[in-house]
Amino acid sequence: MTIEQRLADVCQKIEAAEREAGRSRGAVTLVAVSKTFEADAIRPVIVSGQRIFGENRVQESEGKWPALKAETPGIELHLIGPLQSNKAANAVALFDVIETVDREKIARALASEMKIQGRTPKLYVQVNIGMEPQKAGIEPKETVAFVAFCRKELALSVEGLMCIPPAEGHPGPYFALLEKLARECGVEKLSMGMSGDFETAIGFGATSVRVGSAIFGHR
Ligand SMILES: *Cc1c(COP(=O)(O)O)cnc(C)c1O
Repeated sequence: MTIEQRLADVCQKIEAAEREAGRSRGAVTLVAVSKTFEADAIRPVIVSGQRIFGENRVQESEGKWPALKAETPGIELHLIGPLQSNKAANAVALFDVIETVDREKIARALASEMKIQGRTPKLYVQVNIGMEPQKAGIEPKETVAFVAFCRKELALSVEGLMCIPPAEGHPGPYFALLEKLARECGVEKLSMGMSGDFETAIGFGATSVRVGSAIFGHR
């Protein structure tokens, strides 16, 4: 299959999963995860009509996205990897959605950079949904208070939650927990589901899925 066919295949599967879950068509947004791929591999996906992309490293993104964004208006770029506060300025300048806000220090750095630059990327809080020591994200039980802190103390508007469930076992219960936390926080967006489990995530209420290898091939 060509990269264009793989993209079309993923889009069809998203539509089928929306139908199956009784959700409206277009309820789920595809974030095409282009990390590690060069601009030349990404361009055909843009030409096929995809406009929303995810990257996990700020520096790598700075090497390819300013030019790609200049070529095609309407690109929306999501940061889905861990963010260090010394990269907050770069992240605010380049990304349209930052999905990995997970601690006070980074929230403060983003709030201050957003004021300085007058740019307002949308923000999601990353939850360490399986409480895995090697993974980033705020603990599930601290999520509601952290979202409230971002809103009240920093006047940030948090729009969603994001998670990466443990690689082992069924992801369903983790997706269900993220959905429950989102309701408790009063946020609308749920970023969950990757190449291996995006259809499951759609059944649990994902509003966006982050799909890399099923479109771009193995990294
Ligand atoms: C790489 C990555 C993805 C995409 O993973 P695939 O299995 O290639 O679809 C999704 N989310 C995050 C946070 C990632 O780092």
